Amino acid sequence: SYAEPSELPSVPSAAEQDHTLEEDVTVIRTLKIGLSMDTLVEERWEKDRDMFKEAVEALGAEVEVKAANGNDALQIAQAETLISQGVDLLVLVPHNAEAAATIVGKAQMAGIPVISYDRLVKNANIDLYISFDNEKVGELQAEAITALVPEGKYVYIGGASTDNNAHLLKEGVYNVLQPFIERGDITVVYDQWTEAWMPANAKQNMQAALIANDNDIDAVIAANDATAGGVIEALAEQGLAGKVPVAGQDAELAGLQHIVNGEQAMTVYKSIKSLTEQAAEIAVRMASGEVIETDTTINNGKKDVPTVFLTPVAVDKTNIEETIIADGFHRAEDIYHGLP
Ligand code: BGC
Repeated sequence: SYAEPSELPSVPSAAEQDHTLEEDVTVIRTLKIGLSMDTLVEERWEKDRDMFKEAVEALGAEVEVKAANGNDALQIAQAETLISQGVDLLVLVPHNAEAAATIVGKAQMAGIPVISYDRLVKNANIDLYISFDNEKVGELQAEAITALVPEGKYVYIGGASTDNNAHLLKEGVYNVLQPFIERGDITVVYDQWTEAWMPANAKQNMQAALIANDNDIDAVIAANDATAGGVIEALAEQGLAGKVPVAGQDAELAGLQHIVNGEQAMTVYKSIKSLTEQAAEIAVRMASGEVIETDTTINNGKKDVPTVFLTPVAVDKTNIEETIIADGFHRAEDIYHGLP
């Protein structure tokens, strides 16, 4: 009988195992992909999990998923479990860009390739990085908000500083704001990371920004829709929700509802379907021993990592139909629920 993958943790690839079989027997062992996730808190991550699983299964391979509730030690332990279970490849969404290098080291020792998914693992020998262009996400946010508010006092509510994406988003925002700042048209009066991406922390920071500026704030850019939700709560307490434009990203249902009721100016849509389908295809090909070539590389402090970037799309109340709804990302009846 043919051994289960878990009994063969050190065997490099299914293709090689096939050569050990008698010539007239063709048994293709099912490839197994491990998916190690930071969190399932924001709405998108369940989609990432479900759609990735579906896409990998459609290619005839299996997925084993673990989510770490934002806990580095737990994520490392879970990844060790996946490695010892003999996954053929690990797809990693790091909680902490630096701490996750430990996981990559362990996978490498076991001969398991690692794909850094959505978030970059820094200073580690990852094999590929697939994400949206996060700097572009920040640029889209700042372009939309400066078009609405070309002069005034800005607040920047960043993401978690432990997430490399938070740094890229901020770079993108400032790429666009810089000339406005240099002309003296825009002043950033408050700029703070949001610990653990938590909306409650974003709300507290926004409260602090309002107090420090006697409520005299003209625009807010928040790193995602969840933190934008915290910002909108703080604005609402001061009767300012809907009066101060707020940007977010992710095209979460709540974010889109805030857009249609006027409390949020825009969001950035990232097609999780495209991301998961491309990641699944690359993962399965790489797991079966194929070398994947990309046009782009990103240096993560250790090496030039082959990189696949997808394109984010700015969404405001004028194009929800042709983007979010046309793509089936959310249904019109959910977005416009309860509205006249
Ligand atoms: C992702 C965002 C997400 C955030 C919080 C970022 O790395 O790119 O889509 O909202 O993490 O989970």
